[in-house]
Amino acid sequence: LVVLKDVNKHFGDLHVLRDIDLEIGKGEVVVVIGPSGSGKSTLCRAINRLETIESGTITIDGKPLPQEGKELAQLRADVGMVFQSFNLFAHKTILDNVTLGPIKVRKEKKAAAEKRAMELLERVGVQQQAQKYPAQLSGGQQQRVAIARSLAMNPKVMLFDEPTSALDPEMINEVLDVMVGLARDGMTMVVVTHEMGFARKAANRVVFMADGQIVEQDTPEEFFTNAKSERAKDFLGKIL
Ligand code: ATP
Ligand code: MG
Repeated sequence: LVVLKDVNKHFGDLHVLRDIDLEIGKGEVVVVIGPSGSGKSTLCRAINRLETIESGTITIDGKPLPQEGKELAQLRADVGMVFQSFNLFAHKTILDNVTLGPIKVRKEKKAAAEKRAMELLERVGVQQQAQKYPAQLSGGQQQRVAIARSLAMNPKVMLFDEPTSALDPEMINEVLDVMVGLARDGMTMVVVTHEMGFARKAANRVVFMADGQIVEQDTPEEFFTNAKSERAKDFLGKIL
């Protein structure tokens, strides 16, 4: 579904993505881990073209990422992204946060968008909060709304960049549970996270990055018990 071939990117002198080759199949859940600064966020951002790349290709369903205009808006709808910070619109209700994209980009009717939004809010367990504003919700609830908002666009793939790292510990699981549910329902997902419990439960593959490169990738069972590279072993030694 998503194919990166020989992707390279610099920030000035810093080579942040080096010859990245990665294929993510439909329904596959890929967890990306690696030290700080290894390029994990940049990789995610490149997939929905929040970052440009200098060489190589990224395709979704065989089509290269669009450069601009309507096609780019469509891409952002097809590739949902959930960040560490929830990025909800502060002055809009939870319901409006979820219906805005479908009405503006997908041109859905308001009533239909609201019906679907309420279903999604129920799926992530915050339907009671629909008429509230983001500041009235806990971090875990806001992050679940952010997930519902992405799902409302019927994305082909969902990217998560450390979605639980800004949350208080007691809220982490409520967000991870929603993500595990999505994974089980067959959503294609790329998840940057250090939550190894999630990786073990939901990932088909763990991709380990260091210094802008994919150093190794394997199933979670194999990677966590039998990492091959010294860098991965060293990293696992620090986080496990
Ligand atoms: P973390 O685990 O800390 O989130 P990461 O693996 O997500 O790290 P990236 O955010 O992709 O790492 O950053 C990779 C490198 O690129 C880092 O050294 C970072 O400082 C640098 N970088 C990221 N964004 C920019 C930017 N817009 N301009 C210049 N350098 C940047
Ligand atoms: Mg990052």
